Amino acid sequence: MKNQKLVMIPGPTPTVRSITDQMGRETVAFGDPAFVKDFKELVTDLKELLKVDGECFVVAGTGTMAMEMAISNVTKRRDNVLVVSNGFFGDRFIDLCTRKELNVDVLSAPWGEVVSSETIENKLKEKNYAAITVTHVDTATGACAPIREIGEVIKKFPETVYIVDGVAATAGEREYVDDMGIDILFTGSQKAFGVAPGLAILWAGQKALARRKSLGTIPEFYIDFEKWIPIMNDPSKYFATPAVNMIWALKESVRIIKEEGLEARYDRHKRVSDAINAALEALGFVILAKEGNRCTTLSNVLYQEGINDAEFRKVLAEEGAMVAGGLAAYAGKMFRIGHMGNIDDHTVFSTIAAIERTLIKLDYKYEKGIGLKTLLEKM
Ligand code: PMP
Repeated sequence: MKNQKLVMIPGPTPTVRSITDQMGRETVAFGDPAFVKDFKELVTDLKELLKVDGECFVVAGTGTMAMEMAISNVTKRRDNVLVVSNGFFGDRFIDLCTRKELNVDVLSAPWGEVVSSETIENKLKEKNYAAITVTHVDTATGACAPIREIGEVIKKFPETVYIVDGVAATAGEREYVDDMGIDILFTGSQKAFGVAPGLAILWAGQKALARRKSLGTIPEFYIDFEKWIPIMNDPSKYFATPAVNMIWALKESVRIIKEEGLEARYDRHKRVSDAINAALEALGFVILAKEGNRCTTLSNVLYQEGINDAEFRKVLAEEGAMVAGGLAAYAGKMFRIGHMGNIDDHTVFSTIAAIERTLIKLDYKYEKGIGLKTLLEKM
């Protein structure tokens, strides 16, 4: 019998049955009172979950659309924007902002490291920035930015809107919007919410909403906060067709999160990532991000001498686990393994077992069983 293929890339993440069941339901009219009630409850729950006194938008699209939505609603042409980039996804904001004819300054960290809040504070003193973007977890590196500390710094700069890309973090890595001084946070449904790709979820606090109001009409239409605010507060109204089944699926995900408890979920992500990282290190791999700024949602794993990336990932897929390759300069040198969302302990053990079987198949010399033994001790 063929092995079940575990989706261990950093998004989409494995979907549990109760979530896929929602996607398979017979679609209803978006004006159906039962659906309107479901949508309204979902938005209320999402605001409560991450504690925002503001709005939460649930819109069909991906994380990249949410990036564009965040920037478009708080800046206008020629505004200064500070992009803090700790890797590939941080850099994505540079192109996005440049196309919008914003004046972009960039602070970058070497891959695996993060720009410190002190460096950011010094840069913010140089000129008036309309917005700053920070990627909580850069999926290309596995480094986790000090979101709370940066939030403290930004409190001293009331003109600057703090945008956090939570695509590889939200619902896995500790985040609270108002409490951490975040003005806009966003993610995609396919990451730590454990839903299939297709929804962008964006939280906006009062400062961001006031900025949007002050801009008047903006060039963007579909991603305009002002178009969606009436819908999010009363989903019986129409602006653009809501993704009915995806919204149900996300609602089920939020139910699961509430049942687990968000704090418990954060703790589980930490426990699982510590155990996986220890197991991978015991097998001889090196984790790119050092302890201290390592995320809990994925691992970015450097190969030991003698392992070929394409061969390793091909055999590993045959053994039942799909992982992702490295990006940019790390292509061929790294694999990336997601462990966010609704993965259970069985999945973690199966993944490490599949990695061990792969090493054996590739005739790689190592202490057999050491990965699983380490997991057993740490989980
Ligand atoms: N930001 C981060 C941190 C990401 O990891 C990703 C996707 N991997 C994106 C943005 C873009 O999201 P999407 O692929 O859903 O457009």
